[in-house]
Order: sequence, then structure tokens, then C-alpha cells
Amino acid sequence: MCPCGCGDVLEVALIKEARQSWTLSVDAENRPTLHPSIWRTTGCRSHFWIRKGRIHWCGKTG
Ligand SMILES: [Zn+2]
Repeated sequence: MCPCGCGDVLEVALIKEARQSWTLSVDAENRPTLHPSIWRTTGCRSHFWIRKGRIHWCGKTG
């Protein structure tokens, strides 16, 4: 689910062959970190990072 609360479900491609893919790593405490950031080009246009299981907003306006 999108962390901004808009209710959209995000699909993140973790497949290496995908044109745009993300790398998901999990630390020793099972906290996920996603690289690079997620920048939605549709819907709420949220831009954020997931680092160690926490959302870090990246210049969301409104
Ligand atoms: Zn959203």
C-alpha cells in the first residue's frame, strides 16, 4: 500500500530483467531497505525511500 495514505497499491518490480527494477535488501533485524527511491509517476506522485523499514519522504508537495 502507498505510505501516503491514498490507498493505492504499489507494485515494485524486483525482477532484474525489468527495465526499471529495485534492489531490496534486509538487514540483520529484518528491516527492508529499497534502492533506488520510489517515485510514482501516476496517482499521488509520492516520492520516498524505504530505509531500514521506515519511509523517508523525498520532497512530496501538498
Ligand atoms: Zn499515495
